[in-house]
Amino acid sequence: MHPPSQAIGIDIGGTNVRAACVNASGQILDYVTERTCREAPALVARLVAMVRQLDRPGISTVGIGVPGRVDARCGLVLSGGYVDLSAISLADVIGRETGKRVFIDNDCNMALTAEVAIGAARGCRHVAMLTIGTGIGGALMLEGTVLRGRRSAGQLGHVTVEARGLACKCGRRGCVETVSSGTALGRHIAEAGLPTDVTADGLLALARSGDSRAIGVVQAWAGPLRAAVDSIVAAVDPELFLLGGGLGQAACAALEWAPAVSPWYQCPVKPATLGDDAGVIGAGLAGAQRDMLTS
Ligand SMILES: [Zn+2]
Repeated sequence: MHPPSQAIGIDIGGTNVRAACVNASGQILDYVTERTCREAPALVARLVAMVRQLDRPGISTVGIGVPGRVDARCGLVLSGGYVDLSAISLADVIGRETGKRVFIDNDCNMALTAEVAIGAARGCRHVAMLTIGTGIGGALMLEGTVLRGRRSAGQLGHVTVEARGLACKCGRRGCVETVSSGTALGRHIAEAGLPTDVTADGLLALARSGDSRAIGVVQAWAGPLRAAVDSIVAAVDPELFLLGGGLGQAACAALEWAPAVSPWYQCPVKPATLGDDAGVIGAGLAGAQRDMLTS
């Protein structure tokens, strides 16, 4: 059987669901997006409708990137944050409704798959990634393979950076997500008395101009991020560390105010390059790869 050249990729974000027909080179051939339903049954219905809308002859596989802990081998969502699909056998339900083979994985694993295939980590075999948006997602690729551990390795947004820090939705305290996410940046800005509509780029420009409040906010945001990056680098020794998501580029720039000081834990940190499309491209590529393995 010839390997399929196209698959449908879906990326479930906290704000938008993106779906695309993606070819084996990672090119987007067709694309739809809509606001994310926060209610699980309604969201599942929309996912089925998006697959039907993008379906074309030759497509047999759908890859879906899901925020939260995912057991990719079993096709189960273990827990979710902004959209909780853990009560649904997501891969089975979508497969039954559409007649496709469905592969689900954590959304950051999907984004990392795309960045390694055609983005900032092209050609790399050992890569760590954080996606910085509403929360912080994480993924690890070692020896060219996404690290899964027992079920859901790579939950790097929950690396502890402050033992007595803020409560996190995971049940612990001081996870890097609580202080270095986009949500946390908004809180730091408000607490410093800066205009709450200032953008990350605007904040960085203020900091570069010497504004002490802006510098304080950038350090409060980037300092814990540096601690998390250093801890992850110490644990897995990647050749490249990517920061993606809506704030990946800004977070890379903010790390200028929190440089790596230990010669032991140095690793290049770069922004991801596929932007908001990384997840949907990676989901399509992962689906196509899965199809080639099983067909
Ligand atoms: Zn946590």
